[in-house]
Amino acid sequence: MRVAVVGGGAIGLACAWYLRRGGADVIVLERDGVGEAASLGNGGLITPGLSNPLPAPGVMGQALRWMLSPDSPFLLRPRLDPALAAWCWRFWRSCSREQYLIGMRALLALGAHTVELYDGLAADGVEFELHDEGLLFLFRTARALNEEAAVLAELQREGYRGAVHALSVSEAQALDPAVGDGISGALHAPAERSVRPETLTRGLTVALRARGVEVREGVRVESLTRDGAGGGWRIRCAGSEDAVADRVVVACGPWTGALLAPLGVRVRQEPAKGYSVTAVGEGVTPRHPLYLSEAKVACTPFAGGVRLAGTVEINGFDLTINRRRLAAVTAAPAGYLRDWRPVSPELEWAGLRPLSADSLPLIGKAPGQEGLFVATGHGKLGITLAPATGAALAPLVLDDRLVAELVPLRLDR
Ligand SMILES: Cc1cc2nc3c(=O)[nH]c(=O)nc-3n(C[C@H](O)[C@H](O)[C@H](O)COP(=O)(O)OP(=O)(O)OC[C@H]3O[C@@H](n4cnc5c(N)ncnc54)[C@H](O)[C@@H]3O)c2cc1C
Repeated sequence: MRVAVVGGGAIGLACAWYLRRGGADVIVLERDGVGEAASLGNGGLITPGLSNPLPAPGVMGQALRWMLSPDSPFLLRPRLDPALAAWCWRFWRSCSREQYLIGMRALLALGAHTVELYDGLAADGVEFELHDEGLLFLFRTARALNEEAAVLAELQREGYRGAVHALSVSEAQALDPAVGDGISGALHAPAERSVRPETLTRGLTVALRARGVEVREGVRVESLTRDGAGGGWRIRCAGSEDAVADRVVVACGPWTGALLAPLGVRVRQEPAKGYSVTAVGEGVTPRHPLYLSEAKVACTPFAGGVRLAGTVEINGFDLTINRRRLAAVTAAPAGYLRDWRPVSPELEWAGLRPLSADSLPLIGKAPGQEGLFVATGHGKLGITLAPATGAALAPLVLDDRLVAELVPLRLDR
């Protein structure tokens, strides 16, 4: 069976990987270079421990307060757009406790084996930079610590299998000497991992090509149409010859909806911009990936640099870097770390998370379109869930077998 994957981000490449492993003849079609969109400068946390959906009880009030502050972690710029209004309405509906728990269970179920799947990629020869020190949550206030501890306890009750250890300030400093005196406490989730995401997409691309997968870059897919009576698809490409395939997986991140709209397939998500700075720094460098809790900033050490990543800005497809918000991300370590500060940034970056209204991925069959599949909507968890998405979607594409984890993630939910 020939399968075309449209979109060469972490999700598309992971889908291609598991489809190839399942025996398909796979082609990946990427508009720009692989891994150059949201999958490039993100925080790289592999973190089932952050599987709490964004819409949650009380979050609307918090979001409105944040919108009044120009350097807060969240911003929504209102615009006259029925799709945005519908997205906001669905987000609000998803904030009930019942929906929040349904969402949490769905994210935990999809991510249950994510660490094993990452280990499996490495064992199969995919080369990427993986770290296994766990994730250290740092808190300036006891209130934030108690709130996050309650979320993690709830995640454990709902199926999160990792341990969570509460640490005093001195215990946190013993674990990671970069931790400063300004925190009130920490939580360590040792099962979590982190990856330098650019190495993941690069490693997958190299491994896919080595296994005979054609990865075409600089090829924008313009349209998808049925190809004759055989049930296949014709994929019209700008800048390259058309492709034909028996099945198509569309994994175009926030651009997925634009490609599928002419087929009458609605993909309810918004681009959610975030920023990152990757820099070497001065002072004691963190050894662990850190989550700077009140600032909502991930601080991820890689070989040769540290990345600070954060903010959620709902403002269409605009990729402009708002210097004030980026400065807030860059300044975040000051409240948490002993003396590490970023200097001479190697990369200042903005990327668009594909964020569905209930913050659950949209994975499965495109309603009403035989042989067409979608994998998007991963929001803040696309790196965490990329291998799990590919592993769960491949049986549906290849054998029409729907695994249980995908039931709550179907597009027409
Ligand atoms: C600041 C920030 C921090 C983050 N931190 C983390 C984290 O720590 N952990 C985590 O798990 N997740 C994190 N994320 C989320 C993660 O980055 C995303 O969920 C993930 O990268 C989405 O991957 P994707 O493949 O769906 O989309 P993308 O990476 O955007 O890939 C989609 C691809 O489709 C291509 N495309 C679009 N249209 C077409 C077309 N018509 N034809 C051909 N190709 C097309 C695009 O060029 C693009 O390469 C973060 C995101 C941000 C912004």
